[in-house]
Amino acid sequence: MDLRPDSEDTDVLHEECGVFGVWAPGLDVARMTYFGLHALQHRGQESAGIAVGNGRTVLVRKDVGLVTQVFSDADLAAMPGHVAVGHVRYGTSGGEGWEGAQPHLSTIEDVIIALAHNGTLVNTDYLRHELVELGVPFRSEVDSEVAAKLIGYFTKKTHHLREGIASTMAMIEGAYAMVLVRENALYAFRDPNGIRPLVLGELPEGRGWVVASETCALDIVGARLVREVEPGEVLRISDDGVTSQFEYQAQTLRPCVFEQVYFARPDSLVGGRSVYSVRVKMGERLAAEAPVDADIVIGVPDSGLPPAEGYARAAGLPFGEGLIKNRYVARTFIQPTQELREMGVRLKLNALRDVVEGKRIVLVDDSIVRGTTMAQIVRMLRDAGASEVHVRINSPEVRFPCFYGIDTGTQEQLISASHTVEEVRERIGADSLAFLSVEGLLECVAPMDGYCCACFDGRYPVEVPPSLERHSFLPGQGPKNLSRHSPLAELRVDQMVDVLEMVADETA
Ligand code: SF4
Repeated sequence: MDLRPDSEDTDVLHEECGVFGVWAPGLDVARMTYFGLHALQHRGQESAGIAVGNGRTVLVRKDVGLVTQVFSDADLAAMPGHVAVGHVRYGTSGGEGWEGAQPHLSTIEDVIIALAHNGTLVNTDYLRHELVELGVPFRSEVDSEVAAKLIGYFTKKTHHLREGIASTMAMIEGAYAMVLVRENALYAFRDPNGIRPLVLGELPEGRGWVVASETCALDIVGARLVREVEPGEVLRISDDGVTSQFEYQAQTLRPCVFEQVYFARPDSLVGGRSVYSVRVKMGERLAAEAPVDADIVIGVPDSGLPPAEGYARAAGLPFGEGLIKNRYVARTFIQPTQELREMGVRLKLNALRDVVEGKRIVLVDDSIVRGTTMAQIVRMLRDAGASEVHVRINSPEVRFPCFYGIDTGTQEQLISASHTVEEVRERIGADSLAFLSVEGLLECVAPMDGYCCACFDGRYPVEVPPSLERHSFLPGQGPKNLSRHSPLAELRVDQMVDVLEMVADETA
């Protein structure tokens, strides 16, 4: 559901950032990054930033706002160079405003790096504290800044940026797809489970390389998809070409399955499959799992439209446009009353009476988080004359919080964590309600060795730390952790430096 009520009881899942990087000497890399960020704007609308390496130093410009609001033509013209990274942010982890905007700068003696991160790290409180004790200054509370400063610290100790990145990857836990620029090179690396997406592309005629959260950002700059960056892989792109290295931890692919349900743009490819066609397939499967007598199928724009199309096709029902979205509403203020909150939804969405009046409707959407927005949409359809509203959701019930870059709050805020399907149906006022099964979902998405489905089944690929567990789960419903902390992540930062020196001695 792409409605963003931006109310205190936020009722949608929020992506948390998109990243882009380009290495292309002789091309306007700042402007290419600007275009790449445009394509990724759906992944974050709070702030945008670009950092450019020009052979001598790294220049950064970032601010709160949409990509078009942050950068003028003059800003881009003032950032010449041959390598760049960019970031769009939806911020939840530790602060909003300019300080939270990325890329984060870290200065290591005479080397300057800028880092952009998509995802969330689960163990940065401890690492931040350690770095502060070691005299490292911070400008924000953001987890990504901890990663940037840690890379800086280890690079200073080892005199090799690659070592700095490898040591940092050994200590940070959670989800990360990161791009980093220095004056003469681009780095791209992904967590050992590959939870957040990152792809590598090549510009035509060997003119350079691009990395991005989604393939739609490759398309916009004319790059061809080469492959996904592997879990635990570090790519370095420079005059020497593209080199790849795998770091300390074992790699187990567990990408976020929700990317294909909701976050990714339909024109992106994930695992070689078009997100649009995967969503159509989810609708077809949903029709087989949860059929209903009805007159017409409609979807909640935008991400509910492809599965609605699939449902209609499989059920042999007409597919119609019953809800119209106002595309010019970017953000509303916090709505203090229920009445104003309802107005917030109506600002973004309206029912098309001509299509729904007197009809038995199948309403398809990607997810139900709190259920308040869905209740308003059902009411809106009834007010417009729908005789029945049957809600079909092309994902399973969201019952557990996400700690890997998606803002789902606590279990208390998820209606399906404490209510049966029948109770949720009653709350949203629908005539019937059904969710796609986990098995059904996994049969529709691109085939991979495994997926993270933690928000549906509570099985977390990266251990949920006790500090998060305490506040995020209902009594008796704790996480099932599929892995334990790496012993390296429990080292103190200065102990890690000793380990690095030992490894260097052994390999010398
Ligand atoms: S918990 Fe859910 S939203 Fe979070 S990474 Fe896993 S599948 Fe994606």
